[in-house]
Formats: sequence, C-alpha cells, structure tokens
Amino acid sequence: MSVPISSLRTCCAALNSFARVGFTAKIWICPLCFQRNHFPPHYHAVSETNLPCELYWSGCLELVSLGLVLESLL
Ligand SMILES: [Zn+2]
Repeated sequence: MSVPISSLRTCCAALNSFARVGFTAKIWICPLCFQRNHFPPHYHAVSETNLPCELYWSGCLELVSLGLVLESLL
C-alpha cells in the first residue's frame, strides 16, 4: 500500500490516470481543480516511459483513507 499523492492545497484529489502530466517540469495537473502539483522527490524518475502506477488506467481506483483527510472534511 502506498500513500496517495494529492493536491492538498485545493481539493484533496489524488494523483490518478485523468491527471495531465508535465514530464519536463515534473508536475501533474489535477483534473478537478486544475491546480499544478509537483511530484514528490521520490518520483524524480517519472517520464513518458516510466509512469507511476497511479497514471495507469485500471478500470477501478480504490483509495484507502488514513483518516486525516476525511476528518478534516467533516
Ligand atoms: Zn484538485
């Protein structure tokens, strides 16, 4: 299990296969709020040929909350 990469500053959406990615700038754009987000340092090797698993469409996306995000929305 990995911690979802999210756009915490605006909508809390997690990195997913609908995000637009700037491989040169190492950023992803949230498809919901259009916020630009930098990949975390351990994603430094992201490229068009080395996609993180979050960017693959699998037909199903299941995220398990750690409780912090949901608590802040209630
Ligand atoms: Zn967003």
